[in-house]
Amino acid sequence: MAFVTRFAPSPTGPLHLGHAYSAILAHDLARAAGGAFLLRMEDTDLERCKPEWQALIEDDLRWLGLVWDGPVYRQAPRIADYNARLDGLAAQDLLYPCSCSRGDIRAALAAPQEGVPHSVYPGTCRGRPMADRRAGDALRLDLARALARPEMRAASFSETGPTHAGLHPIDPNTARQHIGDVVLSRKGENIVAYFLASAFDDADQGITHVIRGEDLFDFTPIQVILQRLFGLPTPIYHHHRLIRDDAGKRLAKRDDARALSKYRSEGATPADIRAMVGL
Ligand code: GLU
Repeated sequence: MAFVTRFAPSPTGPLHLGHAYSAILAHDLARAAGGAFLLRMEDTDLERCKPEWQALIEDDLRWLGLVWDGPVYRQAPRIADYNARLDGLAAQDLLYPCSCSRGDIRAALAAPQEGVPHSVYPGTCRGRPMADRRAGDALRLDLARALARPEMRAASFSETGPTHAGLHPIDPNTARQHIGDVVLSRKGENIVAYFLASAFDDADQGITHVIRGEDLFDFTPIQVILQRLFGLPTPIYHHHRLIRDDAGKRLAKRDDARALSKYRSEGATPADIRAMVGL
């Protein structure tokens, strides 16, 4: 199939208008292309994700008239598999264990290098061997080593969204400055980073087009780097505009006032929701 897309909410709260926009857009584009629209629950955060939120999300989507193809795909049962796949990177010397607490990271950042933004990990634990990994250590990607790999040559992604349309080559210098040695797995074996699970799943589900909010645009280069390292295909990306509140702030799950379920209970119709998000 030439066009396979997905809606991938995290079941940590109710869907709001921003989610509705994302889901409707992905669904309508898939249907217009004669393709598939899949539903994936990004539920790797076992503490915050709840079955009742998943049930409400499915209910809201059905109410909107969005029918997904196939069963709902869940990430939580795959966490051990994601971690096992990381062994491949460890064997290539691309990972290292990290025991830095937030406080340590802050201290290391007290003397920042020029041009390195504060959120980028300063590399305190870089060079620690995997054999040295202790319970509770995070696993970080050694980004400089990863970028030096032959499979990273000419890495890029195509974007069709309104703000950044075009071909985006992965520039190693920019990646080092803005991404750095990201954490791929945390708290022992139980949690993996969102962008790792999502990169695996986009490939496992055969996603050809990723349609999601502009707030995730900056995560795309790291996902492309991971796709290359694991030999996975890179989908075409479309980062859409965000639905904002009256003050111009991006809507978040905690903005219950904008929850779809609230509009539903007040008598709004799916057509009203489409109109509210400008579709
Ligand atoms: N789970 C992410 C979220 O709810 C979306 C991830 C994606 O679409 O790639 O923000």
